[in-house]
Amino acid sequence: MGLTEAHAGSDLGIMRTKAEPRADGTWAISGTKIFITSGEHDMAENIVHLVLARLPDAPAGTRGISLFIVPKFLPDAEGQPGARNGFASGSIEHKMGINGSATSVMNYDGATGYLLGEPHQGLAAMFTMMNYERLSVGCRDSARGNSPGSRRSGTPANGARAAAPADPGAATPRPT
Ligand SMILES: Cc1cc2nc3c(=O)[nH]c(=O)nc-3n(C[C@H](O)[C@H](O)[C@H](O)COP(=O)(O)OP(=O)(O)OC[C@H]3O[C@@H](n4cnc5c(N)ncnc54)[C@H](O)[C@@H]3O)c2cc1C
Repeated sequence: MGLTEAHAGSDLGIMRTKAEPRADGTWAISGTKIFITSGEHDMAENIVHLVLARLPDAPAGTRGISLFIVPKFLPDAEGQPGARNGFASGSIEHKMGINGSATSVMNYDGATGYLLGEPHQGLAAMFTMMNYERLSVGCRDSARGNSPGSRRSGTPANGARAAAPADPGAATPRPT
């Protein structure tokens, strides 16, 4: 999902990525997003980005954000991945962890987008997915944290900690 920009993280109301209408009903998406999880990779035949952008007549703030489907490969006549869309990864972020997923800077340069939902209602639509994701991630990590391999030795499944072992050095006389 493409929300975050270099100057707009928590405060999405100031995002700048724009969407301009085309005669064929699609939209030209232009702007740069950062921190995009799995923004670019070759593990699937296509990558479908959900990108937040502003229409030319958009009201200021979060009430002026719309949501677009922006696939890496545009569907051909048979609905299969066809021509490359107009966006690319600018770089892969250097992270301390979560290195199993490439987190990417994405540059959209007049990329073809399809409006999803109503104009200016994009943030509410995106939060439908984000809230589902939050619950999914919470369930996954709760399960992982309670798996036997993740628990400290001697910690029961209910999370209660065993009494700390006696310190063998405590009774050793210290040199004066
Ligand atoms: C591993 C990773 C993957 C990500 N994947 C994606 C992705 O796929 N798509 C995407 O769009 N984004 C993604 N992000 C970006 C993520 O959504 C942003 O990092 C997040 O929205 C916070 O924005 P920021 O980093 O600019 O922090 P900031 O907004 O600058 O916040 C910094 C700190 O200030 C606090 N803060 C901010 N505003 C206020 C306020 N008004 N009052 C009090 N405190 C405040 C925050 O709580 C935080 O502690 C990813 C980030 C990471 C680290």
